[in-house]
Amino acid sequence: MQANEHTVQYGTREIGFKLTYSDRKTLEIAVYPDKSVWVTAPMGSSLDKIRGKVTKRSKWIVKQKRYFERFEQSNQQFEYVSGETHRYLGRQYRLKVIPIDPGEKETVKLKGRFLRIRTRQKENSHHTRQLLNRWYRAHAAHKFDERYKLCLQNLTKYEIPQPEMKLYRMKKRWGSYTPSGKILLNPDLVKHPLYCIDYVIIHELCHTKYPNHDKKFYHLLSKILPDWQKRKHKLERFH
Ligand SMILES: [Zn+2]
Repeated sequence: MQANEHTVQYGTREIGFKLTYSDRKTLEIAVYPDKSVWVTAPMGSSLDKIRGKVTKRSKWIVKQKRYFERFEQSNQQFEYVSGETHRYLGRQYRLKVIPIDPGEKETVKLKGRFLRIRTRQKENSHHTRQLLNRWYRAHAAHKFDERYKLCLQNLTKYEIPQPEMKLYRMKKRWGSYTPSGKILLNPDLVKHPLYCIDYVIIHELCHTKYPNHDKKFYHLLSKILPDWQKRKHKLERFH
């Protein structure tokens, strides 16, 4: 597909976008995880009109880009050293990396406002990260299981099936309902508050009835969880 590059001005910043035409009736703007902006305009629309429409959506475009930026940074910004802030169930904890003797057991524990990692390789941040990720995963397995059962209990009147739930690390998603009928939850979700975890679980459970994000799907989701948008928003902004 041939695309031309254009820009519009939004405050002090320039927003670049790639423009293609199709025989659709309305203009579509999409922001992708690599933060590229693609505009598909109806055949024959004037560039002025297109730029006007893109300018009108500038605020939204910038918001989408920020959303993906946070995803990019979320795992890279850590050095896994004492003093860093890490999250668990939406609460912030200070990291404390404690050196131990070779004969001692490596552990990760929450204590007060601290997340204490006892490690035999204090200077090895890769190792510290592994210890911490293992801890997150174990806690995710436990918490998600607990929340999953609770959600299912509350949904009995909707006659929702009870698919198997598994942990699965995904780059850009918190949860997924697979064609083979399993619910996958990203272990990193355990860094977020319980009400966000519940939202992802219920979202995926609604997919057991309606696989697509169509009217019926959102109708059911809104009936079960009237404030789902608030929860989703919170989840997106939490990094
Ligand atoms: Zn979905």
